[in-house]
Amino acid sequence: MQNDDIIFDFVVPAKQPWSRVISKGESLTIVDLEGQQAVDFLCFDAADPDDRYSAMNTIKVQGSAYIKQGTVLYTDSGKALLTVVKDTLGGHDTIYGCCSNPNNFLRYGVATTESCYSNFLHELATHGMDRTAIVGNVNFFMQVPVMPDGAAGVAEDVSAPGSYVDLRAETDVLVVLSNCPQMLNPCNGFAPSPVRVIVRKAGAPISL
Ligand SMILES: [Zn+2]
Repeated sequence: MQNDDIIFDFVVPAKQPWSRVISKGESLTIVDLEGQQAVDFLCFDAADPDDRYSAMNTIKVQGSAYIKQGTVLYTDSGKALLTVVKDTLGGHDTIYGCCSNPNNFLRYGVATTESCYSNFLHELATHGMDRTAIVGNVNFFMQVPVMPDGAAGVAEDVSAPGSYVDLRAETDVLVVLSNCPQMLNPCNGFAPSPVRVIVRKAGAPISL
């Protein structure tokens, strides 16, 4: 890849949030550098942030509970925000939402101080947004199998080092992610690690 194809290339440290507006046509690649690292992900129409990612519409329209290659991430209004152009893992959760200090306590009886919800609050505030913007999110590199009896839970993360998703912006999109700090279930292999985010120009070929 020519260097001038790359607009932005950054390693998000373990447990930290990150955000950016991805312009229409640009692509965002998220790389699970060391493997077994969940990335909690929100996205919004940058021109109208009240119109935000809808797991409901995304699941219903495409008849799939998993985000995978070819999936379009839709908003409440039905606008296409991002298309998953490439997915090396084969399926990502979007039913289980993010970890928070309250749900950590309810699930594990542990009073945590770090969570994806807290990361979202911090990062959204930099865009003048608040908790009302937090909805059921995408959990890249995380699986939540649902059993025939309805039982569900976070599976051991099978994402290999170097797994990635490549997302094409279908409009100007604000993306807000949390590099999940969870230590109480296997979604991060009990060892939160860095992820890489790369933004490249429209039409530029992917290269890592
Ligand atoms: Zn989390």
